[in-house]
Amino acid sequence: WSDETEWELGDIEGAAEGEFVPVPVLAVVGRPNVGKSTLVNRIIGRREAVVEDVPGVTRDRVSYDAEWAGKRFTIQDTGGWEPSAKGLQQSVARQAELAMNTADAIVVVVDATVGATATDEAVARVLRRSKTPVILVANKVDDQKLEAEAAALWSLGLGEPFSVSATHGRGTGDLLDKILEALPETPREIIGATGGPRRVALVGKPNVGKSSLLNKLSGDERSVVHDVAGTTVDPVDSLVELGGKVWRFVDTAGLRKRVIHASGAEYYASLRTRSAIEAAEVAVVLIDASQPISEQDQRVITMVEETGRALVLAFNKWDLVDDERRVQLEKEIDRDLQRVRWALRVNVSAQTGRAVQKLVPAMETSLESWDTRVPTGRLNTWLRETVAATPPPMRGGRLPRILFATQATTRPPTFVLFTTGFLEANYRRFLERRLRESFGFEGSPIRIGVRVRE
Ligand code: GDP
Ligand code: GDP
Repeated sequence: WSDETEWELGDIEGAAEGEFVPVPVLAVVGRPNVGKSTLVNRIIGRREAVVEDVPGVTRDRVSYDAEWAGKRFTIQDTGGWEPSAKGLQQSVARQAELAMNTADAIVVVVDATVGATATDEAVARVLRRSKTPVILVANKVDDQKLEAEAAALWSLGLGEPFSVSATHGRGTGDLLDKILEALPETPREIIGATGGPRRVALVGKPNVGKSSLLNKLSGDERSVVHDVAGTTVDPVDSLVELGGKVWRFVDTAGLRKRVIHASGAEYYASLRTRSAIEAAEVAVVLIDASQPISEQDQRVITMVEETGRALVLAFNKWDLVDDERRVQLEKEIDRDLQRVRWALRVNVSAQTGRAVQKLVPAMETSLESWDTRVPTGRLNTWLRETVAATPPPMRGGRLPRILFATQATTRPPTFVLFTTGFLEANYRRFLERRLRESFGFEGSPIRIGVRVRE
């Protein structure tokens, strides 16, 4: 084993010291048939797929290694998503949302020969408020005559359309130059790491008790901090001192002002929730313990998972929970919240103040997990033992070998396994469970990517 491991290691670019160097991520989005896969294939030339489990998403998201002008980056092809029950338009718009949360730059592909469709417009609406750089690609511009069609895509409001032909390669070199310009040197997950109060998103469906809890936590005005040396306070955030530390509750302006929930505002409330989660390091999701766990609760939790933030589940209105409801709630949790078993749970009452002080240690533990880095040596000892005891299932008559593992990033902990063959999703989930048993990660999502080396 060890001989092979060393040999493989030396062969992995950027892994000479056994460290995986995180590279920036480019997401490719757009409706089906515009030529995303063709473009991705054109860019990567040779295929080396990394399959990653994204919770809450029906399919695996596929990433590819790419390199241009000596710079390495990862391309995330979000194209294969199954349209949700709510239709293509919403599913593609959601793709774009996810790209804004996770990628360092976004390429949105439109078919110039068709022009902007309603779905393209929907995607553009989402991407127009993106803080992540967006490059608009007008594809299928196979010759000069089609340039006018490409120019018509200015109407999407995403800046200058960049015309290419993915099948012929026309314009793709210039596009790659532009992509490199847009990609930052350092991937976003390790930007803006520490320093300043830790950022908390207090989220949950309307009327679950967010304002009440924030009021309870900030209690008398004394604990609300207006000025902390070396920090700028965004007027929409609240700085609150809890457990001897200052915490930044992000985007709480609406909570403080008690905005009225107008009808039709649900979509905007959901955007707001998403952006608060993105801005935070840990999300406290409030759930009304006196009511059945709802779709809406689940959606908020899914947002936290997708965004990769630490998660605390706060079951509020505990003062209304009787023995019967408690039994029922446990059943609902078993049924609906299995996938976030790792999240810490706190039963609180914003009204009476019951147990609200327990939120702080829960947030602290979750953030600690979120920041955890497992040294490569320990990780590989663990991997050897785990795989020896339970090898991955055969595929096509061959036993995939797992050569080496490394933790690529923290926040959340993200692992990459280098293998000689594809690993089944079930086996990846098994490894995730074992990783958690061995190293904890209580309160934090973790991710496992597989890099297949043919
Ligand atoms: P995706 O669904 O967005 O990934 O689209 P595909 O990459 O599968 O492409 C959809 C169709 O458009 C395929 O038939 C491609 O051959 C075709 N196509 C992709 N790029 C171009 C292009 O630059 N020019 C032309 N004429 N056809 C293209
Ligand atoms: P938000 O929309 O999530 O900000 O929810 P609010 O804080 O405005 O609370 C909605 C309603 O639930 C209000 O009538 C609160 O008084 C009530 N409420 C909030 N927390 C609790 C609690 O712990 N117990 C009970 N019984 N009611 C609560």
